[in-house]
Amino acid sequence: MEATNLICDICNKRIHFGSPYIALCYNIEHMERDHVRQTDFVNVITSDQIITMCGKCGNKRNAAATKAVLENSFNLTHPRLN
Ligand SMILES: [Zn+2]
Repeated sequence: MEATNLICDICNKRIHFGSPYIALCYNIEHMERDHVRQTDFVNVITSDQIITMCGKCGNKRNAAATKAVLENSFNLTHPRLN
């Protein structure tokens, strides 16, 4: 994805450089432990930006509502596919 040419997936308007936007990403990651520093960290293997919203569209939604939609969608999936 070209960062300077972002398009809102909801209203299809261009997101201008410097404007805030919302990005939903699908990450494949795993946790690791740094035994020397005694800290845990997350290593992101891949990251796909799956939905981009301009500030106006993003402000009509919030993280909790988006999470509920995704959880509901995944729960509707046939159990054999999970
Ligand atoms: Zn928009």
